[in-house]
Amino acid sequence: ASANLYHHLCQAFPADLEACAVETDAGQFYTWRDLERGTAMLANFLQSLELPEGSRIAVQVDKSVEALMLYLATLRAGYVFLPLNTAYQSAEIDYFIGNAEPAVVVCSTANFGWVSTLAFQAGTRWVFTLNDDRTGSLLERAAHASDQHEVAAKQADDVAVIIYTSGTTGRSKGAMLTHGNMLSNALVLKDYWGWRSAAEGGDVLIHALPIFHVHGLFVAIHGALINGSKMIWLAKFEPKTVLRFMPQASVFMGVPTLYVRLLNEPGLTPEVAGHMRLFISGSAPLLLDTFKAWQARTGHTILERYGMSETIMLTSNPYRGERKGGTVGFPLPGVHLRVVDGQGAAVPCGEIGDIQVKGPNVFAGYWRMPEKTAEEFTADGFFKTGDVGKMDADGYVTIVGRSKDLIISGGYNVYPAELESFINDLPGVAESAVVGVPHPDFGEVGVAVVVARPGVQLDATHILDQLKATLANYKVPKQCRVVADLPRNTMGKVQKNLLRQQFASADN
Ligand code: ATP
Ligand code: MG
Repeated sequence: ASANLYHHLCQAFPADLEACAVETDAGQFYTWRDLERGTAMLANFLQSLELPEGSRIAVQVDKSVEALMLYLATLRAGYVFLPLNTAYQSAEIDYFIGNAEPAVVVCSTANFGWVSTLAFQAGTRWVFTLNDDRTGSLLERAAHASDQHEVAAKQADDVAVIIYTSGTTGRSKGAMLTHGNMLSNALVLKDYWGWRSAAEGGDVLIHALPIFHVHGLFVAIHGALINGSKMIWLAKFEPKTVLRFMPQASVFMGVPTLYVRLLNEPGLTPEVAGHMRLFISGSAPLLLDTFKAWQARTGHTILERYGMSETIMLTSNPYRGERKGGTVGFPLPGVHLRVVDGQGAAVPCGEIGDIQVKGPNVFAGYWRMPEKTAEEFTADGFFKTGDVGKMDADGYVTIVGRSKDLIISGGYNVYPAELESFINDLPGVAESAVVGVPHPDFGEVGVAVVVARPGVQLDATHILDQLKATLANYKVPKQCRVVADLPRNTMGKVQKNLLRQQFASADN
């Protein structure tokens, strides 16, 4: 049983199983024993279905502690957990269920009609319901199961989870992560982020993220559990609720937009954040503005890290050393990270290139996409992240963008992130996104999509004039559009594909 991730997580539960493991924003308390018993019953119930080895349990439910237990129970029973974004509607669910062919689907009672129809058509045997108020057929059935369960024996390279990528650059791919991938990453982060043992006063995590992506499901949950640390469990991110719990907590993890929204709260003060030890940001680039504003408002320096569905965490700013804003820090211990040119040769320090990685955290491949998997690995076993970046002389990594977002204009490489940071510094600009659209002469040209600070009236022509006055001509976007908001997905990532579609046909 030793390679089963659940085995390692529960080994770290505190000796006092009656202590609080999870407190919810609805005022419910779950002890460590509740987690242990609840996952045992769910695991026994899943095993009573006599599913074939490697069966996928696909789950599209609202965030709840029972949904967390279903994840842990799936690990415990040795099946493969497959979380699905709660925003997905029938077209998406049809694709994911058809692609993953889960043996079991769990959804909310409200969605049971259409989800079960799609699932049964795709050959799923069982569809259960689970709601965020502890109702539904899954818990009713599991209530009859024994609360004694022996954790299923697993090898380190057995697949534990299929997690679909966010679909920022195209159709989501199912990344197969193994028990070994997740355990190695959890242990590295435990150390790297200085999680405090109970003897050192312990840590308390505010969990405010969705649990269908790497950030909320793995980084946050594994982080707390493998340290035996309590979680304050928020059904949704609500800035005032975060502030209410902050004085009892020590660690917070968020995507950049959550920090922006917290900064809009007058209640965010050094006093409220005084008990906090660590604020972590990731999933999308944190603006330097936000990084600095957070320092000024709370006295805390946000620790930015970088990772992806295929690899969990790759780099992190240090816990003790200098956290450099605008960078994602150093490769984590055990992660080999290199920056290469188009031919695969390492580029000199400080120069931009493609980021490739290798390590015990790197996934086992894309689900049922052997060709795609083969394409994304180099001959010497490095995974091509699809991100473009550079490493400075001290070893700090900066993400410059994605290779798919690179604009090649008249044969020159134009890096959107360079332009964005420039535009963001112009007076009155809140944020921006630069995308490439087809152009008859240049192949591609940039379009700058800009959001104004509240109360500011921006002039697109004036923005372009300022860029022309300071940057090489080939880099200057041919158009500037002022918009109210940038389109973002649930993880706070700007959906550049939507911007490209929206502005592709515009007159260049
Ligand atoms: P898809 O692969 O389907 O297009 P996605 O890459 O957005 O979607 P995820 O695996 O959820 O799906 O996200 C990983 C990506 O998020 C990374 O490859 C990187 O581009 C971006 N990312 C994560 N953390 C950071 C960060 N701190 N700064 C900049 N980008 C980040
Ligand atoms: Mg990706």
